[in-house]
Amino acid sequence: MDSLHIISDGNLEVNYGRQKLSPSSFSSSTKLGVSCLLIKKSNKYILIDTGPGIFNTDENKYLMEYPRQLLVKLNDLNIQPAEINTVILTHFHFDHCGGCINTAGEPIFNNAIHSIQKKEVEYSKDNPEFSKYALPFFNTLNEYGLLKVIDGDILIENSIELISSPGHTAGFQYVKFVINNQNYVFPGDIIPTLWHINNDNIIGIDLYPEALNNAKRKIIEDCINDDGIMIFQHSLRPTMGKLVKKEKRIGFKKYPN
Ligand SMILES: [Zn+2]
Repeated sequence: MDSLHIISDGNLEVNYGRQKLSPSSFSSSTKLGVSCLLIKKSNKYILIDTGPGIFNTDENKYLMEYPRQLLVKLNDLNIQPAEINTVILTHFHFDHCGGCINTAGEPIFNNAIHSIQKKEVEYSKDNPEFSKYALPFFNTLNEYGLLKVIDGDILIENSIELISSPGHTAGFQYVKFVINNQNYVFPGDIIPTLWHINNDNIIGIDLYPEALNNAKRKIIEDCINDDGIMIFQHSLRPTMGKLVKKEKRIGFKKYPN
């Protein structure tokens, strides 16, 4: 039986006051959830993003509220890290990929192929500020032969699409998939919370704002046309649901009801 679990890995407090920020109705400090997604498809386990793990780049900007939950919750589901077949990393920000290595600097999901876009890898190599926290993950996974660098859109397990979408970062990718005949989209940091559906909020770390907003509009439109369920990675509580076109805004119907 194919299945899907949104796994919360704790909360993250982002201090926007320390970042450059375009007009926004977010307050200077915002609390966000950090989630990972576990998909079981054709008896394979696919994990999308790994949470921040032991990693916290800059405590002045980002405060993790809880110790990491991902491994505890996987264990509650009777799944061991070694059973994960594929890890899809949407991008190299620490709250998405930090949880793929342990304190000893070894891969946690030691049988999983970790997929990342080539553009993300190239950008990290060219930008020391970005690579100071991205490259340790890249290097470790590479050393253990667990890294798959992909260039553009690919399809895995017949119905899981990794879609290249530079904007939030240089090599960002989001994920679309089908579980039990239902379409899903996991836009990651392109649409981090439900609030972002009807509000644009470009933050200092968004690399290409225009591309990000174009991608966001396309994802929303596709989700409505596909009758898909959108999953929000940074909602405080796990949130997913269908989007409904209304006259002036996009409505939301939570799933399951
Ligand atoms: Zn990010």
